[in-house]
Amino acid sequence: MLSVEQAETIILGLVQPLDAERDNERRNLMEASGRVLAGAVTSALDFPHWDNSAMDGYAVRYTDVQVCSAESPVQLDIVETIPAGYQPKHVVGAGQAARILTGSVMPQGADTIVIQENTQREGDTVTVLAAPKPQAFVRQRAAFYQAGTPLLPSGLQLQAPEIAVLAAAQCAQVTVYRQPRVAILSTGDELVSIDQPLQPGEIVDSNQYALASLVAQAGAIPVRLGVVVDDPEALKVAIAAAIAQADIVLSSGGVSVGDYDYVEDILAALGGDIHIRSVAVKPGKPLTVATFEQEAGGAEEAEGQQPTPYSTPHTPHPKHTLYFGLPGNPVSALVTFWRFVEPALRKLSGLPEAAWKPRFVRATTRVALRSDGTRESYLWGHLHLVDGLYEFRLADGNHSSGNLINLAGASGLAVVPVGQTHIGSGEFIQVMQIGLPQHY
Ligand code: AMP
Ligand code: MG
Repeated sequence: MLSVEQAETIILGLVQPLDAERDNERRNLMEASGRVLAGAVTSALDFPHWDNSAMDGYAVRYTDVQVCSAESPVQLDIVETIPAGYQPKHVVGAGQAARILTGSVMPQGADTIVIQENTQREGDTVTVLAAPKPQAFVRQRAAFYQAGTPLLPSGLQLQAPEIAVLAAAQCAQVTVYRQPRVAILSTGDELVSIDQPLQPGEIVDSNQYALASLVAQAGAIPVRLGVVVDDPEALKVAIAAAIAQADIVLSSGGVSVGDYDYVEDILAALGGDIHIRSVAVKPGKPLTVATFEQEAGGAEEAEGQQPTPYSTPHTPHPKHTLYFGLPGNPVSALVTFWRFVEPALRKLSGLPEAAWKPRFVRATTRVALRSDGTRESYLWGHLHLVDGLYEFRLADGNHSSGNLINLAGASGLAVVPVGQTHIGSGEFIQVMQIGLPQHY
């Protein structure tokens, strides 16, 4: 059985990130929030676009005012007022100044701003009462960014600051990676959909909803394929269809060693390479990972069928699909998604390592944590900031992998390493952050 670390290394090694040249699309800026840039953006504009004033005051020639003081002030003639959005008309000559407001364009001839507080205004003249430093409060053109150099790097996920920069640079459209497609199917004779009346022994297919939500939150497109019964033929058809239309396939259930657990055999029969069969992790031991390679211009096109709504409009290319057979237990399915699938999915999306690596933080545990020591255990709970330091509070109630209920509101998974059976209250632990910050 593989350790968590070995499994993680194998999985991340199997990921083939989207190709910036091939797997991209143009999007209007407002629709690009949360998306990942598929190429560096450069701008033809300098930032600032022109020399401008950082303060309200007077634009002057430094040589006119370099020795003045309250005792020996200098009087200058005001040639014009330069408000925001105004193009100066006059050159500031010797003995002259221009009234200027924050952000406004520096007039020719002037090289320094005297702040308003150090002046006295009388009609069309201004008296300077203190010598400024040379070039004081002038923001030089291109001081923040020089036209033609990289403005934003490829692989950057667009949030408000990046959207603002792109808007300021007049990039109305941006080239972003397409969103990965993740097919989700649930296996099990006992599963019913959310709106079906429950018969004795039946269970609602909650994994379908949980996984679709996780996939969407990771910026990918969930393709929900519903429930497949525990029948080898039906499963084979469903799994083949899922592989054909997705970058990643997530199935849940049917991967233990029970009488109705067929997934692994079917993956092998469909020509998949199986890389992982189980991992020493709790919950989540029966995790299956496989890859499928499809020739360029795959079977659907060869048979002259219509492309599926999910096929890309680009040139056919060899297709690589990563298959995760997740355990059926709702908690196990979620934990294995967070620990193994999410980093892989985010890596596939074109993000750099710093953005797809699982986020572990150091925290103290409020209560003692226990495990049987045989597998790396993940215990769910809440991460609280106490005076700027993280404290982990174990979720109340039963920590069986069948108990989905107390997983609600969890914001962290505390790690109990292999070989450790007890971590005392107040001791330091590693906690993996999950989802969005929660206050439960
Ligand atoms: P399995 O891995 O198929 O043996 O399933 C393990 C446990 O998880 C069983 O109790 C199943 O009923 C439950 N389970 C399997 N799939 C799902 C699902 N999609 N949603 C909720 N529970 C599930
Ligand atoms: Mg099952």
